[in-house]
Amino acid sequence: VGLDVGGTTVKAGLVARDGTVLLSRARPTPPAGRLEEIERTIAELLRELDDHDGAGTVGAGLPGVVDHARGVVRHSPNVEAFTGWEARDRLSDIARRPVVVDNDANCAAVAEGWVGAAAGVDDFLMVTLGTGVGGGVVLGGHLWHGEAGRAGELGHVTVDPQGAPCGCGSRGCLETVASATGIARMARECGREGDAESLARAARSGDPAAARLFERAGSALGIAVAAWLDVMDVHTVVVGGGMAAALDLMEPALRDEIALRAYALHPDDAIVRRAAVTPTPGVVGAARLAMLEESRLLARRQDGPGSTG
Ligand SMILES: [Zn+2]
Repeated sequence: VGLDVGGTTVKAGLVARDGTVLLSRARPTPPAGRLEEIERTIAELLRELDDHDGAGTVGAGLPGVVDHARGVVRHSPNVEAFTGWEARDRLSDIARRPVVVDNDANCAAVAEGWVGAAAGVDDFLMVTLGTGVGGGVVLGGHLWHGEAGRAGELGHVTVDPQGAPCGCGSRGCLETVASATGIARMARECGREGDAESLARAARSGDPAAARLFERAGSALGIAVAAWLDVMDVHTVVVGGGMAAALDLMEPALRDEIALRAYALHPDDAIVRRAAVTPTPGVVGAARLAMLEESRLLARRQDGPGSTG
């Protein structure tokens, strides 16, 4: 079972071992994000999935910095109620079975590496462009969590030292430019109305000012990604999230920046792919993490007699 617990929607799905979503459910996240109500919503969704055969270990993707080893949300600026949430233990009480938790963009990365745009690629960066910007790092076929679960937080890399203030307390973060919120903000600064979706439509129908907003987003993304490609010596980037629908509008500027800035990397060797797992990559990736956890627990149980697991 995979769960994707977001600020606006809680999604749940029963996922087969080949990555097919057999059954999916979604509910709005309770307003004001009260934790008990969110837990109740999750419990209801799990009960609905339990009516079907095969519902096993649960994986949950959560927004913010998730301490995967301890199962705790360390920091969640966009859904404040989640900060400090002992999600793994609480959810495993609710589900009465093992639960594994991770960051939502990490789950998307796992989904893409498993059955998506990076299937068979051992090392890649996942960037999710939505209301905010998230990311995940896959190295040697495994998620890289870092010391505190912060790895891959590309959204808060500085792309403009004098840029707009960011929710994280810094300014000029990638998230302030290359997110749906960033596009809408830049549009307002140019005296324009509209959300990222309508501005993308305008750009496609030949509106140069709207097109310029997506170029700026693409450039900012390219600056951040080029630095990451240098640091990690990888060359594949998967772009997901709602804003990936406008990747065509951002990609030329994104590629230009990578060509200009990535060190000793031939521009033709940089691979940019649009995420392929839709519509619920977070659910698919979380379920994959649950499957991996299940195998790990099984191996531990078989490890030796007397083991209490
Ligand atoms: Zn920030």
